[in-house]
Amino acid sequence: MKKIIDKHNAAELLKNLSDEFAVVKNPEYIHPEFELYPLAPKLTSPLDSLSAAVMDMDGTTTTTEELCIHSLEFMIRKMSGKMTTESWKGLDHTLDYPHIIGNSTTKHVEYLITKYHSLLIDENIKGSYFYAAIWTLLSGNDSKRKEEVIINLNNLNLSGILGDGFYKDLSAKNTSLADLEHEISEYFLQRFSDRFPSLFKTDLVKIAIDIYYQRYHEILQRIKRGESKNISIELFNDPNKRLIQPMPGVLFLLCLLKGWLGNEAENLADRLIEDYHVKSGKQFDILDPAEIKKKIKSLGLYFEKHPAKIAIVTSSIFYEADIVIGEVFNVLTTQLNDLAISSARKELIRQKLSGYRNVYDAFITASDSTEIRLKPHRDLYCIALHQLNVPAADFKNVIGFEDSESGTIAIRAAGIGRCVAVPFAQTKGHNFDAAAVVCTGGVPEIVLSYNLFFKS
Ligand SMILES: [Mg+2]
Repeated sequence: MKKIIDKHNAAELLKNLSDEFAVVKNPEYIHPEFELYPLAPKLTSPLDSLSAAVMDMDGTTTTTEELCIHSLEFMIRKMSGKMTTESWKGLDHTLDYPHIIGNSTTKHVEYLITKYHSLLIDENIKGSYFYAAIWTLLSGNDSKRKEEVIINLNNLNLSGILGDGFYKDLSAKNTSLADLEHEISEYFLQRFSDRFPSLFKTDLVKIAIDIYYQRYHEILQRIKRGESKNISIELFNDPNKRLIQPMPGVLFLLCLLKGWLGNEAENLADRLIEDYHVKSGKQFDILDPAEIKKKIKSLGLYFEKHPAKIAIVTSSIFYEADIVIGEVFNVLTTQLNDLAISSARKELIRQKLSGYRNVYDAFITASDSTEIRLKPHRDLYCIALHQLNVPAADFKNVIGFEDSESGTIAIRAAGIGRCVAVPFAQTKGHNFDAAAVVCTGGVPEIVLSYNLFFKS
């Protein structure tokens, strides 16, 4: 095959790659303006075997999306000084959510900075940025974030902060910075405010990203310390709202695919029907309960003999995914107690759930790629398939789960036609044209209604 061809030959080649293409727009600083991805044909045909399942994290495996949305809204509040719902009602569920879920953080932030630009106030932008940068450097735990903050400080002509006496004092004291937030912002505003260059939109986006991550990582640190309940009260005024919890049916799916349920899978049919209700808000129409149990049992027996590989594929960075999935597995372990299976199986599964690496054969995060190649680009899913060692000829035996538009495009663009959309409250308004099936009943629905694509 020739390496350089004219556009007519290029069009010929493209034509043979697929009947359907995704157009994925690039940021302004990338050549060319957009990428064209040939999509794998949608697949819903019956399976004889399943090699692997690839699953998104936020919104598909867990409910973390609430935290991301909170942190994005908090970012605009800090940069505008409008910290109460009286001064600004906050992000718009219908208009904003489709643009701030499922894509890369940069894209989410770019959208919000463009949309809410008129609310932003210079002093608030700078004051909140100083605190966010200093918190990340002194209290953050993610070394990659620290590097990015230092690059940003250099670009904004603010690296002098690092040599400032107050910064050095804070660094030496190792105290909690939260109580000093106002003092830190005011001090650095007075001394370093005039060093900022003129701020263009790209600068504002970088500043906003640092503010967003500071908030998100501060909350993650507290969750890791076991403070989930306090945070739920502070942020959502609801002590019972768990910030990070698995989506309904996730425990069942992971255990089923790994072959840990075997002939006891059928015992969980009722639980799955309940989970369907929780996920969709609708009752599952049960025509023949005995038939459902029979099918689930046969899935359990199949995977006991042929365990499937599982990958998590997320546009979150590793630091976040590691804490989030760690917390998800804590909750899964408590859910295990309520399952109607034998104590021997529970013990086996409990051991497996003690580390997420026992469950996930690949754990792919934004840290495995770069910010500009995240979903809807196919890269993260391609890396997952490669790490799972699934050959291209076998992609037809892979299932992909996503809750967002860009995620479903990324799955199909990576060559997986068996793409299942599992929208949840925050992504139900997304366009799911890329999905082979849309299950508002989530994982329980793909098992109960589609038998996981296996022949009945
Ligand atoms: Mg998602």
